[in-house]
Amino acid sequence: MTGTPSRIFERLEQLYAIGGGPGANRPHPSPAEDGAHELAATWMREAGLAVEVDECGNLLGRSARSADVWVGSHLDSVPRGGRYDGALGVVAAIEAAERTGAGSAVAFRGEEVGCIGSRALCVAGLGLPRAFLELHVEQGPVLADAGVPLGVVTSIVGYARAELFFEGRAGHAGTTPMEARDDALVAAAEAVLRIRDAARGIDSAVATVGQIEVEPGGSNVIPSRARISIDARAPDADRLNELVRAIGFEPGQLTAPAPMDEGLRALLAEEIASRGLPAIELPSGAGHDAGILAAAGIPSAMLFVRSMNGGVSHSPDELSSDEDVALAVEVLTAVLARIARS
Ligand SMILES: [Zn+2]
Repeated sequence: MTGTPSRIFERLEQLYAIGGGPGANRPHPSPAEDGAHELAATWMREAGLAVEVDECGNLLGRSARSADVWVGSHLDSVPRGGRYDGALGVVAAIEAAERTGAGSAVAFRGEEVGCIGSRALCVAGLGLPRAFLELHVEQGPVLADAGVPLGVVTSIVGYARAELFFEGRAGHAGTTPMEARDDALVAAAEAVLRIRDAARGIDSAVATVGQIEVEPGGSNVIPSRARISIDARAPDADRLNELVRAIGFEPGQLTAPAPMDEGLRALLAEEIASRGLPAIELPSGAGHDAGILAAAGIPSAMLFVRSMNGGVSHSPDELSSDEDVALAVEVLTAVLARIARS
C-alpha cells in the first residue's frame, strides 16, 4: 500500500477535536464546520491539489488530471456525533487524489441538515462533476452481521412521510363501558401495528412511528383524538409505492429513491473481489450527498465500511476498525484511478 494509513487516523482525530467534545460537534453552519473546512483545505494543498471554495461554501481540491471526477463527503456533524460520519469520506478522498494524482476531493457543506451544499451545487448546475464517489461508514449492522469489511451501495432509499389523525369520543374512564367506547388512541395503536406489519412484508422496507400525541391527554379520560407520524422508506420506487399502498396513507412529503450508477458499482465490486473479499450490495437507509448528485443525473456510487458497536452512528461510540478503513481507502483509490483513466 502507498501512503501512510496512520495519517488517516491522525486526521480523523484532529477533526474530532474541533468543537471541543465530547463527541464531534460541527453543526452547519458553525465556526467548527468552518474550522474543519480550513483544516481540510490545508491537507488538500499539502496533497498538491488546487483549492477552491464555491459560492455554496463547498470545498474542492482539484488535481491536474481528471479533475471532473469527484470523491468526497461532508465535514459537518450532528451534535455529539462520531469520528467517522462524513469526516472519513473527506480524509479518504484527499488520500485517493494524492495517491493517484487524479480527480478532485470535495467536502460538501451541511449534509446533516438536508445536504445543503450538494443540493445548492446541483440547483446552480455549474461545474458539476462527470462522476462522484463517496466513502462512508455504514451506520448500521448489515456488514458486521455478514462478517465482511466493505459493501457497495445499491441505492439511497426514498422516503414518504405523513401524519395520521384518529378521531374518537371523549368520555369518563370509570363510567363508560368498554363496548360503548370510541377510543382514538386504540385506533392509532392498531395503525402502528399495521404499519410495522406492512414494512415487514416488503423486502428491505422500513416504517417508523416516532411521534404520538393524544387529546385531551388526561389519565382518566378516553382519548378523543390522536396524531401519529409515519416515516416509511424503501430502496426503490416500486417498493416505496407498494409500502405506501400497504399502509394506506397519502404522503405529505415524498423523496424518490436514488439508484447508484451500475458501472461505478461494478468497478467497486471488482476491486473488492480482487482482494479476495465478498462484494456485498446493500441499500443505504440514510440520505447522503451521493443521493443528491445521483438525483441530478451525475453517475454516483458509494462504498460502505463496516460499522462496529452494533452499527451505532451519530454518537461518540461510532467505530470502524483501522484495517477496514485502510482497505476501504485502497479500494476507493483503485476505482478513482480506473475512472480517471477512462
Ligand atoms: Zn454522513
